[in-house]
Formats: sequence, structure tokens, C-alpha cells
Amino acid sequence: MIGATFLKALCIQKAFCLRRTLTPCIKFTVLGVPFKRCLKVLPTSRILQKMSSEAEDLSVSTAKKPKFSVLDVDEWQKRWAERKIGFHQDAVHLYLEKYIDKLLNKHEKIDVFMPLCGKAVDIKWLADKGHSVVGVECSSMALEEFFDEQNVEYTTEPVNEVKGSLYKSKDGKIKLYCCDFFAFNKDIAGQFDAIWDRAAMVAINRSDRVKYTDLLKSLMKPECRLALVTLEFDESLHAGPPHDFPEDNVRELYEETCNVEMVESMDGLKERHKGWGLSSLEEKFYVIMKK
Ligand code: SAH
Repeated sequence: MIGATFLKALCIQKAFCLRRTLTPCIKFTVLGVPFKRCLKVLPTSRILQKMSSEAEDLSVSTAKKPKFSVLDVDEWQKRWAERKIGFHQDAVHLYLEKYIDKLLNKHEKIDVFMPLCGKAVDIKWLADKGHSVVGVECSSMALEEFFDEQNVEYTTEPVNEVKGSLYKSKDGKIKLYCCDFFAFNKDIAGQFDAIWDRAAMVAINRSDRVKYTDLLKSLMKPECRLALVTLEFDESLHAGPPHDFPEDNVRELYEETCNVEMVESMDGLKERHKGWGLSSLEEKFYVIMKK
């Protein structure tokens, strides 16, 4: 009788345990016996089998668990060499044109910073309007293509502090540093009136998001306007980059020290996103300023 009750209790407890967690359940006890010992009642192979089948049942999130890709600077450079640059757009970004007044913040000419700038045509557009632009990009190929395609004469010089080099337009309005973003800091080119972050925050490895945000904040003048474009999509379908970047995460990262305004969001689904298996993708535009 006691044996039957014990076995029943054991089964209930074990099933309960396996449903709740996939880690060994040493915390649970059955009739005073630690659960770890109870597991020994079954052969290990059966326990593992059961655990894995439970895992499959458990949730869609386990089966569809997104594997976020992690890219280092070398891999980005390789992407440029292999022409995997679907993020590049030939036209000035809609939000930049539409909301330039928010970045200007009543100033006529501003110093704009563009992290992870690639060869964005936005750089030239801003410089043509008389603003000065500083960018950081790890691929020299991207920067050379920028100057060639935009017909802007430039010079290059080594910059030891960033273990890289500076590509500078002859008129000095455009300064693009070729280096790892995390080697850049405010001593290199000062702080800025505005930051244009398009396809940068969403390209950064998820584990670097706090480091990235802290560095960006350190580059903001007190009145700086940080314009941020993010993407929201089902990342279980696409490991990135770009990465899904929900509004909660933006607020978590910035709201302690900044005011965050979500200005506009639009359907950003393009053919290349459909190729990733997505059926929806939202592009959100924020303006962030220091409190
Ligand atoms: N903002 C650009 C490019 C976005 S794609 C645009 O709108 O087109 C992200 C870019 O960041 C790529 O060009 C990649 O080479 C660069 N990049 C990625 N990690 C970097 C890092 N740690 N430091 C500098 N550049 C980086």
C-alpha cells in the first residue's frame, strides 16, 4: 500500500517536474526523498528520452527557439566582400527626410554621428545640406565604395587610437572612421548634435546591446537628438542580422537616462524579408533625447 502510494506520488511529482523545467530537478522531494534520488528509479536513457519528448511538447518556443547569429568584424568584412549587403538602400531613408527637423532641433547646421554607417547615401544627403557627418564602419570596402559611388574626393590616414583609419572628404564635411565601433569614443571626434542610427542598433550582436547603447549615449551632447530606426519581426524565422528589436527593449536600454518618443511605425516588409520566411515586419522610428 505504502509502496503503491509512493510510486503514484513519484509519478505525479516527476511529471510535474518535467513539465516545469528541463534542468535536473534536485529541489523536489517525494515523501521526503530528494527528487534527484527518485530519478535513479528509471534508467538514464528513459529519463533522457522522456525529457526530450517533454521538451518537444512543452512549447513551441523550444522547437522554434531562435538561434541568434553572432557576427564579428571579420565576418562583416567578409559579407561586404561577398556582396551580402541587402541592407544597403539606394535612396535616402524616408524617416530621415521626413523628420530631419527633429534632428535639427532648431539649429541650421549640425554635427551628425552615424554608427555602423556602411555606404549609406544618407551620409551624402546630410553633407550636401551643409551638416558635418562622422561615421564609423568596419569595412574599408564599404567606405571606398561610398566615396567612389558618391563622387566625393577623399584622403585616408591611419588613426592609431582606434586601430584603424580615417576616410575624410576633401572639404572635411565627411569623416568616416574605418574601425571597430567599440574602439571609438568621444575623445576621437567629440560629441554630436544628432545621431542617425539606421540598421546599426539592429545589426549589433544581442550581447553587445548594453555596451553599444552606453557608447552611443557618451557621444550625445546634452541636447542631442538620437534618431533610431528599429525592426520588429518574428526572429524565430530569421537568425539575423538584422535582429528583432522590440519597443520594450528600446525603452529598457534608454529610458533610465533618456526620454524616448516612438514617432512612427510602418510596414517595412520587403521582398528580401519574405525570402527569410517573414510575413510581417514593422519598422519603427524613435527620437531619443537625454533627460
Ligand atoms: N547604417 C548603414 C549600414 C547598416 S548594416 C545603412 O543604413 O546602410 C551594418 C553595418 O555595420 C555593416 O556595414 C557592417 O560592416 C558594420 N558593422 C558591423 N559591426 C561593426 C562594428 N563592430 N564596428 C564597425 N562597423 C560594424
